[in-house]
Amino acid sequence: MADRKPLIAGNWKMYKTVSEAFETAEKLVGLVKDVDQAEVMIAPPFTALAPVFAAVQGTNVTLGAQNLYWEAEGAYTGEISTSMLRSAGCTHVIIGHSERRQYFGETDESVNKKVKAAVTAGLIPVMCVGESEQERDDNKTFSVLDKQVKIGLEGLSLEDAATLVIAYEPIWAIGTGKTATKEQAQDVHRYLREWIGNNYSAALADSLRILYGGSVKPDNVSALMAQPDVDGALVGGASLDADTFSQIVKF
Ligand code: PEP
Repeated sequence: MADRKPLIAGNWKMYKTVSEAFETAEKLVGLVKDVDQAEVMIAPPFTALAPVFAAVQGTNVTLGAQNLYWEAEGAYTGEISTSMLRSAGCTHVIIGHSERRQYFGETDESVNKKVKAAVTAGLIPVMCVGESEQERDDNKTFSVLDKQVKIGLEGLSLEDAATLVIAYEPIWAIGTGKTATKEQAQDVHRYLREWIGNNYSAALADSLRILYGGSVKPDNVSALMAQPDVDGALVGGASLDADTFSQIVKF
């Protein structure tokens, strides 16, 4: 099995002013400076990217954005390009978060354009997929995920997919306090890894990191991380506090 270094990523959503973000990032840097067992990434809101970069530059904490637009530049009011993200210090970008799909009309097709734009720009895409509670109850989890990865990754070559990170985030577990059981998470992660193996290569399936997201907390992270196909976590609410997030990073 490939040595997949875990990635623990914090999604700060629409929280924190510039000064709050800077202070949290600075504190986090101090708390995780000796951590080697996992890579750490935080994704603050756009307004805080550059100041947070100032806090994390040269440390073991990397910077991600929560979204991007696929065009290089132009009259797209309110949007942010890959070069803007790169120039602000980002190495990662979260794409297709369920909140973007649910509230902002993001589709598998737009996710696909964004994943390609990220890869072209040298940003690591963290592509989010996940089923709703209804879909799970209807036994549609795997067919929903199949469609999300099939369209989300359409036209992405094996070479392009080399840096891809997938985050499995069951919608019913995001911000609800309900976490998927370790068995539920492992089942889906195994399915996604097999999908990559069948559609790309066994080597990529072996090296690709699949994160779990959905109410990850200090007290449930270790059990999730012990699953063979869980390679990290995408953490929302519990990433907002540096102490709490650092405990997750040190699972
Ligand atoms: C998320 O925002 O990706 C997420 C998983 O949120 P939470 O940890 O709050 O459920």
